[in-house]
Amino acid sequence: MVLIRFVYIVGLVLVLIAIQSNSENFRFSLSFVQQAIIGGEFVKYYKSPSTLVHLLNCDPMRPTEDSYRHKGLRKKLTEGIREKGITEERVLNAINNIPRHFFLDSAFDEAAYADRAFPIGEGQTISQPYTVAYQSQLLGVKSFDKVLEIGTGSAYQAVVLAQMGAQVYTIERQKKLFEANKNFDYLKKFPNIKFFYGDGFEGLPTYAPFDKILITAAAPEIPPKLIEQLKVGGMMVLPVGTGEVQRMMRISKLKNGALKEEVFDQFSFVPMLEGKK
Ligand code: SAH
Repeated sequence: MVLIRFVYIVGLVLVLIAIQSNSENFRFSLSFVQQAIIGGEFVKYYKSPSTLVHLLNCDPMRPTEDSYRHKGLRKKLTEGIREKGITEERVLNAINNIPRHFFLDSAFDEAAYADRAFPIGEGQTISQPYTVAYQSQLLGVKSFDKVLEIGTGSAYQAVVLAQMGAQVYTIERQKKLFEANKNFDYLKKFPNIKFFYGDGFEGLPTYAPFDKILITAAAPEIPPKLIEQLKVGGMMVLPVGTGEVQRMMRISKLKNGALKEEVFDQFSFVPMLEGKK
């Protein structure tokens, strides 16, 4: 009993330190807290560990430290993407500067720098870095471009666009993914990203028109309402198709209102779905 009380008190002290520093200590302290819960004492004060996480308002499994090792892995990833054909330096700089492991569970700490898509929950994925770079390059993002992104997911692509100087409006249809980004502290560094919960097929008429529109889920067809929300001279990049693989397309709205359609490589995205969830 004395031991349990000791573990419990140590746990509480570490939680207080973690609240102060909001750092790596949190994960460390949580394991003590869990021990205290197992000891049966802690439940007197908190109904469940998730209540505690809620109180601390941070995700225990999200890494927050960007080490030299991470930076090294990121440099290699960036060079790999360059070798695959991405030439736009602003895109490569963004990939090289954004700690992709922050966007994934700590279990993916090292794997985050493999050029691969990974699960982010709710059956969705964070896109492969090469795909993110490919879409960003096709979109030709310039500083202060007003960009609408459909499919926020992990928010990695939104941050790439923000890092390139765009004013980003991003929509997610899955409530849980939308909510998760509210507690993601790193995103507070990017006041030029606005997050919306909604159906991307509808776009954001209140904020239209946009210089650029980027869809990061496989669209069954070119969404007509999004074309309406595109500026004359603007561009939309999206994967189109209903099968396992889709064609990347770029639609440009010309001065006379006509649409120019260009077709690029094949990719595999999760489907763009109607309605909110
Ligand atoms: N850009 C994301 C990729 C996420 S995968 C990233 O960098 O992580 C595609 C996302 O699109 C999923 O989160 C999915 O829920 C979302 N999505 C699918 N259909 C949508 C729709 N109609 N409106 C908004 N988001 C949608």
